[in-house]
Amino acid sequence: MIDLSVIPTPCYVCEEEKLERNLQILDRVQHESGAKILLALKGFAMWSTFDLVGRYLCGTSASGLHEAMLGRETMNKEVHTYSPAFREEEIDQIARISNHLVFNSPQQVRRFLSRAKAANPSISCGIRVNPEFSSAPVDLYNPCGLYSRLGTTIDNFDPLVLEDLDGLHFHALCEQNVDALEGVLQAFEDKFGDFIPHMQWINFGGGHHITRKDYDVDRLIEVIRDFRERHDGVTVYLEPGEAVGWQTGPLVGSVLDIVHNGMDIAILDVSAEAHMPDTLAMPYRAQVRGAGEAGEKPYTYRLGGNTCLAGDIMGDYSFDEPLKIGDKIVFEDQIHYTMVKSTTFNGVQHPSIAIWTKENRLKIVREFGYEDFKNRLS
Ligand SMILES: *Cc1c(COP(=O)(O)O)cnc(C)c1O
Repeated sequence: MIDLSVIPTPCYVCEEEKLERNLQILDRVQHESGAKILLALKGFAMWSTFDLVGRYLCGTSASGLHEAMLGRETMNKEVHTYSPAFREEEIDQIARISNHLVFNSPQQVRRFLSRAKAANPSISCGIRVNPEFSSAPVDLYNPCGLYSRLGTTIDNFDPLVLEDLDGLHFHALCEQNVDALEGVLQAFEDKFGDFIPHMQWINFGGGHHITRKDYDVDRLIEVIRDFRERHDGVTVYLEPGEAVGWQTGPLVGSVLDIVHNGMDIAILDVSAEAHMPDTLAMPYRAQVRGAGEAGEKPYTYRLGGNTCLAGDIMGDYSFDEPLKIGDKIVFEDQIHYTMVKSTTFNGVQHPSIAIWTKENRLKIVREFGYEDFKNRLS
């Protein structure tokens, strides 16, 4: 359990024990289903934990050169790189450091496949298809939505490009359970099933919420085993991001001031906009430790960030005791899709990144300052 009194704020605190518990669940899926699991860096790229992550998972999944470099440098296991569109200036370098390359369209295959193979003769290449089936919760996170640019639909598919490819990739889920995967798999096999016998691997993408309490892990194992049996033991990859970092620690902030304008408003040293942007983009309400809905407990406050954006607001929360300046506010589950998306907007202090170790020690692995703000501007 994190000792809040020793946490300097603002700070993201990743709890090693919780991360390892997630990795153990994912490892069980690997062992019992035969699938290989990669960490999608898009959702969780806290590389100071990658010694641990790499003990369980097979590697990293990247969306371009920089993530591929990070995966190669910091975990150095399998590196799988997909991009909605590779750039000519980068394709050679990406190919050299990747084990798998996944193209988004037949045109990209024709442009870059032979170049990639020249740069790295042992690379294994595939194409991302769009199964046109998705039950993703919101359009922003629906890779199979109307006019999606992600993956090739069966109507735009050219089986000729498969001649030099080893695999098919789809990614159609977002925070979903195995029933959604079963729907996608059905659509994928209906549309692309004829091509599977020629493939060495099928990548089921991410969005599998495997480490969530109500996720049906046993059913996932069954579904993957069935799929592999139906298709001559083809290799299956999963590449979850969120499921790796799911509920592995909070963002801890402090109350800087309390003002009143029709209601009580606490201004914090963290920002919804800059440090937990999905709460505004998705949007969703972050859990605050010890707090309830507005009006549920005796003292209700609007929690707001310290940027000058009017909408930099976490929401209205109620507490058992009145808040005071200096009180710590703990936003739960702020490790995935936070530090990968955070900004130095408005120059506000970026939270430090820390690990709460299994030995109950605080290890601050990164602190930020003025230079970080300045250096990404000019
Ligand atoms: C975002 C993404 C993932 C990871 O998705 P999660 O929802 O974080 O599990 C995997 N593969 C691709 C291609 C993605 O775009």
